[in-house]
Amino acid sequence: MAELTMETLVSLCKQRGFVFQSSEIYGGLSSAWDYGPLGVELKNRIQRFWWREMTQLHDNIVGLDAAILMHPRVWEASGHVENFTDPLVDCKKCKQRFREDMLPEESRGSRRCPECGGELTDTRKFNLMFRTHIGPVEGDASVIYLRPETAQGIYVNYRNCMQTSRLKIPFGIAQVGKAFRNEIVTKNFIFRTCEFEQMEMQYFVKPGEDEGWFEKWRGKRMDYYKKLGIRGHKLRWHRHGPDELAHYAKDAYDIEYEFPMGWRELEGVHNRSDYDLSRHSEFSGKDLSYLDEETKERYLPFIIETSAGLTRSVLAVLCDAYEEEVLPGGEARSVLHFHPLVAPITVGVFPLVKKDGLAEIARKIEGELREDFTTFYDQSGSIGRRYRRQDEVGTPYCVTVDYESKENGTVTLRDRDSMEQRRVRAEDLAAVIKKSIREYARV
Ligand code: ATP
Repeated sequence: MAELTMETLVSLCKQRGFVFQSSEIYGGLSSAWDYGPLGVELKNRIQRFWWREMTQLHDNIVGLDAAILMHPRVWEASGHVENFTDPLVDCKKCKQRFREDMLPEESRGSRRCPECGGELTDTRKFNLMFRTHIGPVEGDASVIYLRPETAQGIYVNYRNCMQTSRLKIPFGIAQVGKAFRNEIVTKNFIFRTCEFEQMEMQYFVKPGEDEGWFEKWRGKRMDYYKKLGIRGHKLRWHRHGPDELAHYAKDAYDIEYEFPMGWRELEGVHNRSDYDLSRHSEFSGKDLSYLDEETKERYLPFIIETSAGLTRSVLAVLCDAYEEEVLPGGEARSVLHFHPLVAPITVGVFPLVKKDGLAEIARKIEGELREDFTTFYDQSGSIGRRYRRQDEVGTPYCVTVDYESKENGTVTLRDRDSMEQRRVRAEDLAAVIKKSIREYARV
C-alpha cells in the first residue's frame, strides 16, 4: 500500500470537497481552512460521536456552549496573559520566524537559521492569544481576547451548571467550540491552525480521588478513538516530563496519533488540580468551593481535563481511513474506510440502468432511506464506476436496483470494505443497515 503524504491528502481533500484553502481566489490565507460539503458532514459527525460518548452515555455529564468572548480578567486568572507564550526567534537575513523549541538541534546550538544559515535573534516570548477591542473605543479598557481554549468557559460556569442541574461531585461539563491561537508554525494542513475547534470535557472530583479518576479517563479516552474506528497501532500515550508540564498541571498525558509527518498530539488528558478554581475564586472574589452535603466537608474540586481537537480529529480520521488498495485482479481502488457513523454519506442508491422503471424504484427507495441516513443518488456511468466514486468518499453502503428488484422486491446491498454484495428486501434495508452500523468493526 502506498504511503500517504500530506500533499496527497491536501489534494484529495480539495478534489473530493472535504477541505478547501481559506479565501482561495485571493491567493489563500495561510493556516486557515474551509470545510467543504463532505468535510462539514464529517466534522459534524465526529462532533456528534464525541458528544454522545461524553454526555448521552453518562448521567453526570452535562453540556455547555459558552461565548467565545469572555471578560478579560478570565485570561489573567487562567494564566494565559502571563504564560501562554511561545519562544520565538527571527532570522536576521531571510526574516523567517521560528519557534525556538521546534528548531533542529544544530540551529539551536549554532543560533543559525535552518533555512538560509543567517544569524538568529535572541529568543522573545510571543503571546498566542488574539487580542482585539470590544466596542467603538480602542484602548486598554476595551481589550478583549478570542478564547485560546474552551475550558475557561466551563470553569467560570461550573457553579451555574452544578446548581441548575443539581449535580454532585464527581460530575463533568462538556463543550465543543472554536478556539483561536496566533500560531507561528502552521504547516501540516489542518493539524495546527490559528482558528480551530476543540471538544473538551472537564470532570470535577474530590481532591485525593483525582489520581483514580485521571486513570479512568485516560482509559476511556483511548477506547473512544478505537470506537471511532482509528486503528490501535496508530495510537500511543506520551507522558509530559517535568519540563513539559503546563503551569496548571499536576500530571499530563497526550494521546498521540501517527500522522504522515510522525507521531503528534491528538488529545491532552490533564490533571489540573484545583489550580483553575482557586485562581478564579481569587480573581473574581467569589467562593467557588463545593460543599459535600453528606459529610459537610467543603473543598475546591480538582479538575481532570480531556481536551481533544475536533479539526485535528478530522485530520486523524482522514489519514487513518485512507487506503490505495490493489484488488486481486490487479485493479486499484482508492477508498476511505470511515466508521459508518462519521462517513459523510451513509448510503449510495443506484439504478442498474435508467430505463425500464428502475430509476423510479431507486428514487423511491432513496426517499425512504433519507429519513434515517444521509443518502446519495447516482445514475450516471457504469455501476462499477459508481461504486468507486462512493469508495473514494468513504460511503459504507451502496444499494443497487436491478431487474430482479422489479420481480421480487429485493435489491443488492454492497459493503464498502469487503465489497461483498448480498440481496436484501427493500423494506428491510433501513433495519439491515442500522444493524450493520451497530456491529461495525474495522478490518
Ligand atoms: P501543541 O503543543 O501541539 O501546541 P497544546 O499542547 O498547546 O498543543 P492543548 O492546549 O492541550 O494543546 O490543546 C488541546 C487540543 O487542542 C490538542 O490536543 C489539539 O488536538 C487541539 N489544538 C491545540 N492547538 C491547536 C491548533 N493550533 N490547531 C488545531 N488544533 C489544536
